[in-house]
Amino acid sequence: MARHVTVIGAGIVGVACASYLRRAGLEVTIVDMRAPGEYCTFGNAGALSPGSCVPYAMPGVLKRVPGWLADPAGPLTIRLSYLPRALPWLLRFVAASRRERIPEIARALRALLGGTFEAYAPLLREADAQHLVRQSGYLFVYETQAGLDADAGAWRIRREHGVVCENIGPEGIRELEPALRGVYRHGVWLPEQGHCVNPERLTKSLAARFQADGGKLVRARVLDIEIGAAGPRALATDAGPMPVDTLLICAGAHSHEFSARVGDPVPLETQRGYHVTIENPTVELARPVSSGEGKFFVTPMDVGLRVAGTVEFAGLEAPPNYARADALLAQAKRMFPELAGSRVTKWMGHRPQIPDTLPVVSRGSKFANVFHAFGHGHLGLTCAAPTGRLVAELVTGAPPHIDPAPYRVDRF
Ligand SMILES: Cc1cc2nc3c(=O)[nH]c(=O)nc-3n(C[C@H](O)[C@H](O)[C@H](O)COP(=O)(O)OP(=O)(O)OC[C@H]3O[C@@H](n4cnc5c(N)ncnc54)[C@H](O)[C@@H]3O)c2cc1C
Repeated sequence: MARHVTVIGAGIVGVACASYLRRAGLEVTIVDMRAPGEYCTFGNAGALSPGSCVPYAMPGVLKRVPGWLADPAGPLTIRLSYLPRALPWLLRFVAASRRERIPEIARALRALLGGTFEAYAPLLREADAQHLVRQSGYLFVYETQAGLDADAGAWRIRREHGVVCENIGPEGIRELEPALRGVYRHGVWLPEQGHCVNPERLTKSLAARFQADGGKLVRARVLDIEIGAAGPRALATDAGPMPVDTLLICAGAHSHEFSARVGDPVPLETQRGYHVTIENPTVELARPVSSGEGKFFVTPMDVGLRVAGTVEFAGLEAPPNYARADALLAQAKRMFPELAGSRVTKWMGHRPQIPDTLPVVSRGSKFANVFHAFGHGHLGLTCAAPTGRLVAELVTGAPPHIDPAPYRVDRF
């Protein structure tokens, strides 16, 4: 039985896992060279989506890829120089889009995501952070019937899994969000979803509570894992060695570097995304609005209005291409003609993405003192608390509240 767990990574996933482990009575230390929530978690769109059980690799999606790639402002881009590196991952992505795999992936996604608000509730209450999460619902809007039809398979899967998705017309859209331009003919209203008004603050609040409860947070970069006969026994860090009893890898888009070291290689790729945040916006929204055709979210946050989305394959090292963020801003201004603000900030972040959309939430396959929780892709904010709950069950040996098999590290 684990006594002490060392968690690599203080993103929302690492912090939620550490919080659940601490609540289960274990000694827990998080190690990260950044303060909590300052990497990918910092800039996400804030959508909390217990209904997002649609695999990214849908057969219909693949057909649309050439059109997206041809559009410089489109939702997907691959830097040519990075294509050879991304190719093996992309081939696995295509393999995951086989029709027969879609139902099992959707089922496993829904099993994890469905408990989002329930799993966050105790963490928010204990951290006095309920005000950062709203069960506001959110709205998808489409300009054309063709746009709505192109996503028909995705809406069908959500409905099959019990997600409430109400089709509404222009009047319903205007009633919910009057600031939207009048071009949106079709809407889908998802009343059970929600959003976080500041993902960085949420992570820092949970981390502060974790520390107040006796959890430790060490600022250091992990350089290597020292492996003994029974598994990891120490971390080599830029602040010196740290002994390890049990290790949990939550290093977001860098997790594969560590999982490979403990004998669990994983196909993890960074899907880089961008945001712009418009401070003191002239447009007020009651809830996130997503452009069905543009595949981005516009979310009301306490720091301003955030426009976030796009997928760029360019690896962990290449500098950001802020033309992608500018394109998001231009599209948001088209969506909300009155949109202006006092200042616009731009950001790029690394989504940790596995080809079959499912995260890795698992015991290590080689060593009994290793656990993994990473690869949540577009859904890490949503999945973090349910992942924390499952990880605590796996580490303590308690009966898991959902079947953990689909998230195994040795499924590839
Ligand atoms: C544009 C955009 C929009 C998004 N919108 C949403 C959304 O609306 N809803 C949603 O649910 N999700 C969304 N996501 C996805 C979500 O942000 C991620 O899935 C989530 O932040 C991943 O959390 P994490 O804790 O796994 O990783 P991270 O937040 O990246 O944290 C990983 C941590 O590991 C640390 N680390 C890495 N290497 C080392 C090392 N060597 N030593 C020590 N520490 C290390 C890093 O410093 C970092 O703090 C979005 C992502 C993007 C980019």
